[in-house]
Amino acid sequence: MAQSVLTIDLGAICANWRALAAMNAGETAAVVKANAYGLGAAQVAAALADAGARTFFVAQAEEGVTVREALGPGPTICVFGGHMQGDAALLRDANLVPMINSIDQMLRHVETLPGHPFGIQLDSGMNRLGMEPAEWSALRDIALSQKPVLVMSHLACADEPSHGMNEFQLQTFRQMTDGIDAPRSLAATGGTILGPDYHFDMTRPGIGLYGGLPFVDAHPVVSLSIPVIQVRDVNPGESVGYGNSWVARVPGKIATISAGYADGIIRAMGPKAHVWAAETRCKIVGRISMDLIGVDVGPAKEIPETVELLGRHQSVDTLAEAAGTIGYEILTSLGSRYARKYIAA
Ligand SMILES: *Cc1c(COP(=O)(O)O)cnc(C)c1O
Repeated sequence: MAQSVLTIDLGAICANWRALAAMNAGETAAVVKANAYGLGAAQVAAALADAGARTFFVAQAEEGVTVREALGPGPTICVFGGHMQGDAALLRDANLVPMINSIDQMLRHVETLPGHPFGIQLDSGMNRLGMEPAEWSALRDIALSQKPVLVMSHLACADEPSHGMNEFQLQTFRQMTDGIDAPRSLAATGGTILGPDYHFDMTRPGIGLYGGLPFVDAHPVVSLSIPVIQVRDVNPGESVGYGNSWVARVPGKIATISAGYADGIIRAMGPKAHVWAAETRCKIVGRISMDLIGVDVGPAKEIPETVELLGRHQSVDTLAEAAGTIGYEILTSLGSRYARKYIAA
């Protein structure tokens, strides 16, 4: 079998959720947008609901429908993108709570779904989503009279604890919301780690659940095992892969493994990335192809049947470093061709 196996440890995801929940006194929600960062929204949301999570966040209404099907009627499912044109039936039928981002969205919401629950997203400085202070002042009294279920904002620099933007956004959010009755939320994973000033009534971790930085103490969640298709000896002067970009200087042993950039293994990471053959770190050599990668398994004790790209030896953040990106992009790039195996919580 040439199919790679992506193993997702639902128990580790639940343990990470509990660890993040233990850091704050309020409610801890779970962000499961982008198919739970590529790991399977239905499976992940169901496991987290069993672990005690009661509120889930997605980016778009369509994602919310998938999560609702997995969870049934109980839990609250919130949509960061708010109430977009054409969303009313989805929001109503799947009982989703849009985070209203603008006066336009507010008008659309009260016109098409009067009485349907909603939250408010405020922009405290990131300039991405949410109402700015002036817009909020104009709408505030009317919006609050409709009893939003949550008033939230998002931090731009929470993964850098000493960044001045954190304190600036905290003060802005306070100025915009102090004294209101509605529950408030500012922190994702990074903000949860910044400490109690940032917690308010609810935290919204995503990446920390899935084992990524900035939650340094996270349990690893994913492992990726890739079969070796063929092994060959190369002599000094022989090249490997497209463009002859790698040339052997000493006699070597090259394993061709069954995954490539079509599986989300970012081509640009080739020159810096490694895989593991049992306990031995082996260099990727030559260009990453669509479905295949060359690996120098010369240093390995035995010729491996499979190699590990993610797992015990190598985290999503180590791999992200080699690719010049972040763990979030490694996870959300994980390919659809992998066999996904779930370890039950
Ligand atoms: C993605 C997202 C989160 C979760 O962020 P992490 O850094 O993955 O914890 C929380 N809130 C909003 C608004 C988001 O877009």
